[in-house]
Amino acid sequence: MTTVRNTENAGNAENTENTEAVEAVEGLPCPDCGHGVRERPVHRTRNRWGGAPPAPRPERWWTCPACGGVGHLRPGDGAMVAMRRLDPAGGGCPFCGEEECEVATAPRPDTDGFVRDWWVCLACGTSAPRRYRP
Ligand SMILES: [Zn+2]
Ligand SMILES: [Zn+2]
Repeated sequence: MTTVRNTENAGNAENTENTEAVEAVEGLPCPDCGHGVRERPVHRTRNRWGGAPPAPRPERWWTCPACGGVGHLRPGDGAMVAMRRLDPAGGGCPFCGEEECEVATAPRPDTDGFVRDWWVCLACGTSAPRRYRP
């Protein structure tokens, strides 16, 4: 009689701990076009204590080779969240200066005519909640 050790079932989703990263991002269907996406790691490179090396952001990020979409897996339920690429005419990331690396979630209307979204720079990994008038 052989016993199957749990450690050998690491690839089994049913054994995945809640705190662990979601299984492979690779190949999940793009929410915009349905094509399989690729993993696209995003690292925080700014303000690392004691000059520590870049560290991965807590979310898993993906990009779609078919439509150019980009997004992350929502922490918690692992849902695919598509992000908007922001207009590069804005002059680039205010923190690292890179261009064409800024993305944001779909704006959610606030009560007073303002909208809220979540802004992330894919180059330096900085993120910020925003509130602005559309
Ligand atoms: Zn796509
Ligand atoms: Zn940046």
